[in-house]
Amino acid sequence: MKTKKSFLVTNSFSEKVIKWYELHGRHDLQWRKAITPYRIWISEIMLQQTQVVTVKPYFKKFIKKYPTLKSIQDASEDEILALWSGLGFYKRARNIFQTKEIIHSEHKGRFPKTFEEIIKLPGIGKSTAGAIMSIAHQIPTPILDGNVKRILQRYFSDGKNILSEKELWDLSLSVSNATNSNFYTQGIMDIGATLCTPQNPECSQCPLNANCNSAFLQVEAIKSKKTIDLKTLKIELSFFVADQEVLLRKIDDQEIWRGLWSLPHTNESSLKVRSYNIEKIKHRLSHRILEIDINLKKVTKKFIPKNNFQYQWVKVNDVENIALPKPIKKIIKNYGKKNFL
Ligand code: SF4
Repeated sequence: MKTKKSFLVTNSFSEKVIKWYELHGRHDLQWRKAITPYRIWISEIMLQQTQVVTVKPYFKKFIKKYPTLKSIQDASEDEILALWSGLGFYKRARNIFQTKEIIHSEHKGRFPKTFEEIIKLPGIGKSTAGAIMSIAHQIPTPILDGNVKRILQRYFSDGKNILSEKELWDLSLSVSNATNSNFYTQGIMDIGATLCTPQNPECSQCPLNANCNSAFLQVEAIKSKKTIDLKTLKIELSFFVADQEVLLRKIDDQEIWRGLWSLPHTNESSLKVRSYNIEKIKHRLSHRILEIDINLKKVTKKFIPKNNFQYQWVKVNDVENIALPKPIKKIIKNYGKKNFL
């Protein structure tokens, strides 16, 4: 492996990143203003598997409702999931609920200060813990998200050798020993997101181009060797409406979208009522494709199916505040407004 690990090089690496960040970093991102461990934690969890542009309005809404760790202390899982509705990967919202419970019961309501304590919290891996430590607690700690991996891979290798995860972590540690760890970590994140992009990196604008092994080469995106075979899951849902209200059912532990609310499955109710197929949705998840048939059923009287699930009737106008998967919420709003209000 051809690397540049000397102290001089690594030192100047972080200095260049910091100087660049001061001038060109994305200082306007909301979670970078009034930095606290709580705000960085929420933003980092939202940014796992989701792009900055998508996260921005969700973070704004979340922080408006729960500006501090204290304010989220009594929030229910349902309330947190409702704010997450549409952002996807709902396990992250459930992890936020569990983490704030742990912080309340085991850390006296204060966000933990050590890497060892932070990494034990649900949904926080090595890189997220590193981001919280370096940005919020200002203690130099390496991170290795997708952007940072790409920079280090290109900078330290000429593209022929694919560096292992361990080598990349070691390199991240070697370059992240900056006094101003807050600026360094945010800077390396921003260089990866705005300059060292998967396709057509802008090497001419990059502060690292003088020593980068891949600068101005035709670098390609690091492709995953995994081919994902997406399975299709078909489900049929019933859209029961009565008196401008819709019947919802809590999704249980064994199902996709666990913990959210949705329309009941058609086979959950034995009620005989005329059914109109109103929508067929194809929705792609990370590991499968959902094919959903939605049947509209108008009933004159509200009822609760007799089984072990949890149900509620909700006014169509109020579904905005319920933790529903994005495509289901969209359909309820569209059909509800068109037909029943
Ligand atoms: S010089 Fe080019 S390839 Fe190297 S880190 Fe910068 S943008 Fe990436």
